[in-house]
Amino acid sequence: MTLHIPFDNTYVDLPNRLFSHQKPYPVRAPKLVAFNHSLATALGITGAEDELELAHVFSGTTVPEGADPIALFYAGHQFGNWNPQMGDGRAVLLGESKGYDIQLKGSGPTPYARRGDGRAWLGPVLREYVVSEAMHALGIPSTRALAAVETGEEIMRDRPLPGAVLTRVASSHIRVGTFQALAARQDTDGLQALMEYACARHYPDANTPAAFLKAVIARQANLVAKWMSVGFIHGVMNTDNCAISGETIDYGPCAFMDAFHPGQVFSSIDRHGRYAYGNQPQIIAWNMAQLATSLLPLEKNSDAAVEEFTNLVNDMPDMLRQFWRQAFGKKLGIAEAVVGDDRLISQLLSIMTDQKSDFTNTFRDLTDSPTASLDVTDHSDFQDWSIRWQDRLALQHAVPSDIMRKANPIFTPRNHQIEAMIAQAVDGDFALFRQLNDALANPFEANPDWTDLTAPPTDAEKVTQTFCGT
Ligand code: AMP
Ligand code: MG
Ligand code: MG
Repeated sequence: MTLHIPFDNTYVDLPNRLFSHQKPYPVRAPKLVAFNHSLATALGITGAEDELELAHVFSGTTVPEGADPIALFYAGHQFGNWNPQMGDGRAVLLGESKGYDIQLKGSGPTPYARRGDGRAWLGPVLREYVVSEAMHALGIPSTRALAAVETGEEIMRDRPLPGAVLTRVASSHIRVGTFQALAARQDTDGLQALMEYACARHYPDANTPAAFLKAVIARQANLVAKWMSVGFIHGVMNTDNCAISGETIDYGPCAFMDAFHPGQVFSSIDRHGRYAYGNQPQIIAWNMAQLATSLLPLEKNSDAAVEEFTNLVNDMPDMLRQFWRQAFGKKLGIAEAVVGDDRLISQLLSIMTDQKSDFTNTFRDLTDSPTASLDVTDHSDFQDWSIRWQDRLALQHAVPSDIMRKANPIFTPRNHQIEAMIAQAVDGDFALFRQLNDALANPFEANPDWTDLTAPPTDAEKVTQTFCGT
């Protein structure tokens, strides 16, 4: 049986200034590193059996039947600076399957590549594979990974490195920056078409720009609250990396925190901490303000629209706080957190900051033995806090540990393991890559085989910086 992907190509029906036809480039010696069979099945893909065929298709060497490959155009604010000309510089969308985009990333230069080589090296490809799948398993909306293929070609970064292609699956690749690109060109017809298309794919109940904006804001508020609840720092929340669908996209310099600190930054290029852990709520509201601005030309009564959109954006912090309260409430075993619980949550986070407590393990320790979390018990305030916490839990009927076990993962993709995994893979050893994928597929389930994956990094292992490392 040969590979079959039931492609649709709806994006090419949009105005042609939103994309360029662009075929992926063949590579010298494609070799399959990983293929996500369960995701393939969910996408309606059949006949995914022959590894060589999979390697050819998911490296871009063979264009599968029914695909109509395009690179998407978009703009964006990068670290707050406006860039009117971005777009997929090294990615092509093959088409959609069961409503999901199937995109090759690292498949050669496109008209939007400018000086880039259009390629990706193995490290970021495997990082995105592991972390995006881990996010999905954690219950956090995310793009997913269908395949990783080595190209058999070396590419030049700070040194020659093995090239690779990632196949990314997303409920779409429409970004805040896609709207911005059209608004900047005063392309109202294009904006209208894009908004209708985005509503049809993601928000079928929204039929006005305001309703669309409101729906996107709600999804993004939920997303960022969920990131924070697992100690995730996106690292590059530029408006082009902000998906309209509300999925996490672009796993460049992202990181999971080990020792908790609200000001934590890993990305080497985020010099001013714009995208620090604790800044993410403000940044997402700023990004939504850019979306709101882009949608204004679609409203006839612009004064009324400015007021309405402003209110929607201004209400976002409060909405995000509510999602945050629910997410962190569950981490403490509280079924329905209320405003008064914010203090309880914040007090624990401040003890954790003082103690440099490991984020994942502290919450898991509290789950398993509520009075003896290894990372925080020797703090003088912890005993007082713990009494207040137990008093709060006594007010509800729900069993805290049942709630906590589903809210506090045992396994998260820690930076030092990702770095070790990449170093091994560059040497041709994919054992840790596979082990991480296996453990992270069930992040809430204890597994004695993988206890070493729960250990925070030693001082020598600690990763202090991450790089876009394309
Ligand atoms: P990112 O930082 O991943 O959001 O990428 C920012 C922009 O740079 C996007 O338009 C990418 O398509 C483009 N880009 C990143 N790496 C490359 C590359 N190696 N070749 C061409 N374009 C690239
Ligand atoms: Mg990007
Ligand atoms: Mg990137």
